[in-house]
Amino acid sequence: MSTNTDLASMFHTMATILEIKGESGFKVNANTKVARALEDLVEDVASIPDLTSIPGVGKSSATKIQNYLKTGQMIEFEALRNSIPSGLLDVMRVQGLGPKKVRQLWQEADVIDIATLRKAIDDGRLDTLPRMGKKTIENISEALAFVETSGNRTRIGIAMPLAESIIQSLQEQPGITNIAFAGSLRRGKETIGDIDILASTENPMALSDAFCTMNNVAIVQAKGETKCSVRLESGMQVDLRVVDKSKFGAALLYFTGSKEHNIILRERAIKQHKKLNEYELEPSNTSDTEEAIYADLGLPFLPPEIRENRGELLCDQIPNLITLQDIRSDLHCHTTASDGHMSIEELAMHAIARGYHTIAVTDHSQSQGQANGLKPKRLLQHIEAIHTANAAIDAITILAGSEVDILQDGTLDYEDELLAKLDIVVASPHAALSQSSSEATARLLKAIEHPLVHIIGHPTGRIINKRKGLEPDIPALIAAAAQHNTALEINANSYRLDLRDTHLKAAVDGGAMLSINTDSHRPVDFEQLRYGILTGRRGWLTPEKCVNCFTHDKLIAWLRRN
Ligand SMILES: [Zn+2]
Ligand SMILES: [Zn+2]
Repeated sequence: MSTNTDLASMFHTMATILEIKGESGFKVNANTKVARALEDLVEDVASIPDLTSIPGVGKSSATKIQNYLKTGQMIEFEALRNSIPSGLLDVMRVQGLGPKKVRQLWQEADVIDIATLRKAIDDGRLDTLPRMGKKTIENISEALAFVETSGNRTRIGIAMPLAESIIQSLQEQPGITNIAFAGSLRRGKETIGDIDILASTENPMALSDAFCTMNNVAIVQAKGETKCSVRLESGMQVDLRVVDKSKFGAALLYFTGSKEHNIILRERAIKQHKKLNEYELEPSNTSDTEEAIYADLGLPFLPPEIRENRGELLCDQIPNLITLQDIRSDLHCHTTASDGHMSIEELAMHAIARGYHTIAVTDHSQSQGQANGLKPKRLLQHIEAIHTANAAIDAITILAGSEVDILQDGTLDYEDELLAKLDIVVASPHAALSQSSSEATARLLKAIEHPLVHIIGHPTGRIINKRKGLEPDIPALIAAAAQHNTALEINANSYRLDLRDTHLKAAVDGGAMLSINTDSHRPVDFEQLRYGILTGRRGWLTPEKCVNCFTHDKLIAWLRRN
């Protein structure tokens, strides 16, 4: 699966570079098509004998993929990447800058990375460029400031599959007894600085050799029997630490963190006249597993996601945190009626395969022109089509819904009369995401209080590492959501994860209902659910507080509550 993701991201990157270089739309599209085909592929690409049998994959792309599968390298990819300044791809992270604008900045203003972009704005070089008004430059400057402060952290949606594939490949090495990733990745944080891997083995040399010669290693920074560090071609740093099997638990606890959690644990140990460090808990023989260490300190096992010193040592009983298996429905998904790539029936089949009792079809509303949002007449036809599919497919309930825009002033993008015909309304902000905090609060409150709205989709509209999104008064939203029985969404897409973890605990404590949805546009998007679950767990979310965990009848009753 991760090979598919790696290859898809390479083809996407090639498409972007070709576009920055001003190559023909045909070449760009061909690469994008292959990337998407790989993303949608259910089976491992390496297991397919004839790659041209994949729709969208031509002969030359098939050869590129084959070479990568054989050698771990793709010459065309390397050549393209070396044909532009490497920092230009970082410039693409600035919200509002597409390949065409980046090309203009590069060719006409000598922008080659984030730093030179800032310089070009400051010294007025951009003022004289065509199609670059004062307002545009202001917007770029603001978006750039966000990228500058968000630093070099990688989204969990990239880091997690990467870490898993590294572990999978190392697991096969002789002599391995334990191996796991630690750090903020294990705690399920939305972005990750670097990947920490911890292992115990009877053959440290074989493990360090295997680690340092993995396919995607660009530079080996350190190589020893207890510690190795490499930088991958993607720029990601990965550290491997090898510890004695009897101390694996202590080391895993230490390297999983957080620092703040480790400090309060150490203080607890000291009070009990014990000593806890990265190697062991003394005096005792319980350093081989985390469970044993917690038990020795008189604590239950604390899930990694809540090790943030947010009260986890103080509470009598750790709540039963939500898991993937608790999810019984997905209430925010798109079809080909707007900007999705699945028909209603395909969407239903994927949901059935996941064991859901209910799936909601929530395509975009009329204001979302670029996403092919539905005008009222089309929505009425769509509702009919969904009802027909629902009647034809017994194994699942298909809800007719909409992801209706919350307009700038808080009104919704359809009349109430039309909204009342829907089984479910997810109301989301998409435009005007830089309005003031007070405007944003008023806007979202209006939607929360609307009797026909069930869920507020991605409440702030932030995009991780790219867009700050709205900054409403979160406690006010939580109070209103609890009062009106409107659920706040955790959008599981790893670009969004909105509501974010830090807002979630307040929402859970404040009695609001939550909803974890994948916002799937393609089959592969369903896989993102786990990031929503991790985020929910970081906010101490239990299945009782999440509408997606309701039984069928309870969910339907909740939808009809007004
Ligand atoms: Zn949306
Ligand atoms: Zn959506």
